[in-house]
Amino acid sequence: MSGLRVFCGQLVTDGQLYRDVALVIERGRVVAWESFDKSQVRHIEPPDVDARAYTVLPGMIDIHIHGGGGRDLMEGTVETVQAVSRHLARYGVTGFLVTPLTAPWEAIRATVRAAQEVRRYGAEGAQVLGCHLEGPFINPVRAGAQPPEFIRTASIEELERELGSLMEEVRIVTLAPEIEGGYELTRYLANQGIIVSIGHTDARYEEVTRAIDLGARHATHCFNAMRPFQHREPGTVGAVLAHPELKAELIWDNIHTHPASARLLIQAKGVEGVLCISDGTTGVGMPEGYRFELWGHAAVVQGGAARLVENGSLAGSTIAMDTCLRHCEQTFGLMVASMLCCANPARALGLEGHKGTLRPGADADFFLWNHERQQVEGTWIAGCRQESAQLPQIEQESEITPRITH
Ligand SMILES: [Zn+2]
Repeated sequence: MSGLRVFCGQLVTDGQLYRDVALVIERGRVVAWESFDKSQVRHIEPPDVDARAYTVLPGMIDIHIHGGGGRDLMEGTVETVQAVSRHLARYGVTGFLVTPLTAPWEAIRATVRAAQEVRRYGAEGAQVLGCHLEGPFINPVRAGAQPPEFIRTASIEELERELGSLMEEVRIVTLAPEIEGGYELTRYLANQGIIVSIGHTDARYEEVTRAIDLGARHATHCFNAMRPFQHREPGTVGAVLAHPELKAELIWDNIHTHPASARLLIQAKGVEGVLCISDGTTGVGMPEGYRFELWGHAAVVQGGAARLVENGSLAGSTIAMDTCLRHCEQTFGLMVASMLCCANPARALGLEGHKGTLRPGADADFFLWNHERQQVEGTWIAGCRQESAQLPQIEQESEITPRITH
């Protein structure tokens, strides 16, 4: 059989570990697996890939990200989307949802339009798989770093009017179901096949169960910017933990969420019920002290996170998905990590069998994981090596800070 071969010392896909497998790749797809004998294979010449010293994993899918490498997706240009797309490939990310935050409609439209253009005509790095609207239909009480001045009450009519045909790009909408018009919008979006993710919400337990009945299926950055758990009123968090219908996003940077809470979430919901996200901002890959703006609000990279200057509130992360993978590997092992970072997000987007897996028939999107150095050594998309595979120097991760407000 002709085609490119990737000789994997270890291959982790769909929560399973395989040793000494060669992936056979043709026209950007995995077409077969072959076994090989490590001792007999001596020289591997390009274009074949010698990954005998690494673990090969399916490319990670980030369903919640705002920017990186000094660029903000809210700049709303094709050039920005491409810059972030190239940036993400460095970290083993091969697909992502462009995530506009709560902002004037004009700005949200520009970002969705730019994402649409890149999705249609091709990304220069990680592929654009659609958009995730984080707001503007959220609860001001749980705004976190979302600019409060642009928060709206939920309205089907307004959403349709403002986005029109651009709605076809939208895969996920983060909303607070308990706000005025929230339940109607939940039902409407779910009926259209758009994932309703409850987030930036002050919903009580019963309000969440009502939203689930109407079709809500995800929870945005679980624990952050949602009504916490209390034993007499389990809140949004309690409802997320208790209901298997809801898949939970998790920013596993050990800052937004204490490692014990991350562990508890996975124990409560099972490996299939949690999806890692980066919630990465402009500050990803940028040095400590780097300043940027979130819709007119100054933010700074501080202690390994992005924080609003005005009140210290967490304003998204400075990590990429490789950090989530690392933390998950350290707690549960790489097989579980591959579910949370690769398979589950792909499945959520209906891309099962194509993305988030390396079984025959899948897109040849993968990366090499250096277990010893705990880092990505190279990323391939549709069988092509991405040029910016080298990781930039990033600051040491900080200890967990007790000052968590988002
Ligand atoms: Zn976000």
